[in-house]
Amino acid sequence: MALAPALFLDRDGNLIEDHHHTCEVHQISPISGVKPALEACLQAGYRLFILTNQSGINRGKFTWSQYHACNRRMLELLALPTPGILEIKAAPERPDEPSVYRKPSPQFILEMIAKYQLDPARCWMVGDRITDWDAGKNAGIRSCAVHSGAGRPEDFAYAESQGFAIRTDFPEFVRVDLGLKF
Ligand SMILES: [Mg+2]
Repeated sequence: MALAPALFLDRDGNLIEDHHHTCEVHQISPISGVKPALEACLQAGYRLFILTNQSGINRGKFTWSQYHACNRRMLELLALPTPGILEIKAAPERPDEPSVYRKPSPQFILEMIAKYQLDPARCWMVGDRITDWDAGKNAGIRSCAVHSGAGRPEDFAYAESQGFAIRTDFPEFVRVDLGLKF
């Protein structure tokens, strides 16, 4: 069986607007153009995964229940065709806590590459923060930095120094780096 291409997607500031510890259902708003971009990726055979650092859970800012409600709302608004997003992994730990999955850990990406027989050469990690881009780098896949979230100018200087793709937002990444029309 041929290995499949895949996208590992940061949630806040990439797929949905970032409200800093986004935890209320009414805050959930897909970034413009993300829905048709994801649909184009599915049409092209990309397997889709979400990998999100949610330290607000262990900081006591919101609960797992609130986090899951936000994901449900996001998926409802995106209404993607089957198979949609295959798996969503959240790391609840604070940056100072040990964590298996918190980005820049490559653990989730490596597990999914093995589980779904993905082609690392056709896998990307896309997000708005250094931790996202370094998770891709640490997993040996390509990374794209998007300007639609919390990234600071110095972060993008780092992205440039590392040779990561740098785009306005996820839809631009899909058009430019994946070459898909939608
Ligand atoms: Mg983010």
